[in-house]
Amino acid sequence: VSHQIAVLGGGISGLSAAYYLSQNVPATTKIVLFEGSKRVGGWIESKRVGTCGPEKGKPGNEGVLFELGPRSLRPKGAGGVVALDLIRNLSLTDSLLTVPATAPSARNRYIYYHDKINVLPSSGPSLLLSRPPIMRGVISSAISEAFRKPKDYATDPDGDESVYAFAERRFGAHVARNLVGSLVHGIYAGDARELSLRSTLRALYDNERVYGSVVRGVVKGGVEIETFREKGVMWRSRREDTDFFSAMENMSVIGFREGMEALPRRLREVLETIENVEVRTEEEVTFVKMGQEGEDIKVETEKGAIHASHVISALPAPTLHKLLSASNQPLPHLNHNPYVDVAVVNLAYDNPKLVPYDGFGFLTPLTTDDHPPANKTTPPGTLGVVFDSNAMPGQEPAGQYTKLTVMLGGHQWDEAFDGTPIGAVVPDEVLWRAMDVVKATLGVESPPLYALTNLHANCIPQYRVGHHTRLRELHAALQSPVYKHRLSVVGNSYLGVSVPDCIKNARALVEELVAAGGLS
Ligand code: FAD
Repeated sequence: VSHQIAVLGGGISGLSAAYYLSQNVPATTKIVLFEGSKRVGGWIESKRVGTCGPEKGKPGNEGVLFELGPRSLRPKGAGGVVALDLIRNLSLTDSLLTVPATAPSARNRYIYYHDKINVLPSSGPSLLLSRPPIMRGVISSAISEAFRKPKDYATDPDGDESVYAFAERRFGAHVARNLVGSLVHGIYAGDARELSLRSTLRALYDNERVYGSVVRGVVKGGVEIETFREKGVMWRSRREDTDFFSAMENMSVIGFREGMEALPRRLREVLETIENVEVRTEEEVTFVKMGQEGEDIKVETEKGAIHASHVISALPAPTLHKLLSASNQPLPHLNHNPYVDVAVVNLAYDNPKLVPYDGFGFLTPLTTDDHPPANKTTPPGTLGVVFDSNAMPGQEPAGQYTKLTVMLGGHQWDEAFDGTPIGAVVPDEVLWRAMDVVKATLGVESPPLYALTNLHANCIPQYRVGHHTRLRELHAALQSPVYKHRLSVVGNSYLGVSVPDCIKNARALVEELVAAGGLS
């Protein structure tokens, strides 16, 4: 058996897995990472536009930084600490941008409701002093929630249900559709009626299970979700540099001057300096043949094949499902969750005061058939608009531009584009649609100075109700003799879609494999 580990996929999960492997296995073990495309980073991609032409290189004309995928990371919890620890170890702290929790963009969150920007209260006093239309009835819903009988988790130990069903049961349909539906648009571009509460908004689930109510749970400080192991990892990381970690505790979100792609780019650079690591881009994996227990696994690519004693898949679960299709012991559930398509339109205007709101951006409520839509004027399929120049300042000289990102589609793709599939949608038409959105919602009529449209097919997995139970069954199948200590899985298909969760889960997987002797 060879001492060669193959990592499949060069998104943040695969890169992190390869990095933690390189720090934890002997130098005699070779680590080969396969990435199908030219670049690494997967959905993390940043582009600076407007850097050519006669003004190129002149001070103050650095162009505009557009994020095509994630734009910021939350430095909180175990995922946040693990991501920060990685950023420190990669010496990326100098290019880090931070937004304090006290900044207006961190405090001001908006929902577009009744054709107006509604500012969500950010504190107790603001809840009492200003009551936008969307907050009507919410205080009384919250008070009743504190006294509503909880679900009987004793008779239903998994107790999963859709995010919407939970919110409607606890707080009523208004909160479910408009507040929770919007939140789910912001994180998953998804339909709150389809997503698993337990796997997406775990804190709500835990609060009802432990305290009998979300409100009572929040008042009592909530339920700790970090495992004992995660707490150990957090404690050890913080001890390394207490000043840095305590400063980061006051941050709402973090990013990088050259965009989120700074992180995968640096990971690649570092991996390429490590002797026993090989990063192979433009080499799509086409087949994974498990063979018999104790044998090497054959990983076939478009350029050849290698044999590995262990394979870590950091690919989307449905892709792994296809690669294993000839296996005589298929893994369950890899193909269960659907993925949504999202159109991301980045816009930059040379007027820094274009938008009279100092907040993160707005989201839109969920529309259900049994209720009139919350807005009459927003084009169908609008998920939300991020006010990037507020949300992550520092990527251009201050006071030059307003940057906005319009997100369209997600679970409402068909409504947004009249049933045209993503492959047939014309990017220019999407740009026009995005301009309609900013006109209808923010009154912006002027054309942008720069614009970039990206159509992301199958970009966010939708953890359906029962995800947790299916993952348990998948985990059990991975413990069967043919897979145990031979194939592992990581990535946004399983235990969280945020970038910090992807990094944390890659690190946890590698550390668990090393501790169990699964890589020797
Ligand atoms: P991926 O990024 O999907 O990586 C998988 C990699 O595998 C890709 O590079 C792909 O090319 C490669 N691959 C696929 N098939 C093969 C094959 N056969 N052979 C070899 N290689 C293959 N998260 C946040 O924390 N904050 C945000 O603000 C945020 N915003 C987001 C906005 C958008 C529009 C999107 C799409 C996501 C956002 N996310 C955000 C989520 C986060 O970006 C992703 O969940 C995360 O980047 C996924 O990383 P991954 O490595 O698990 O998967």
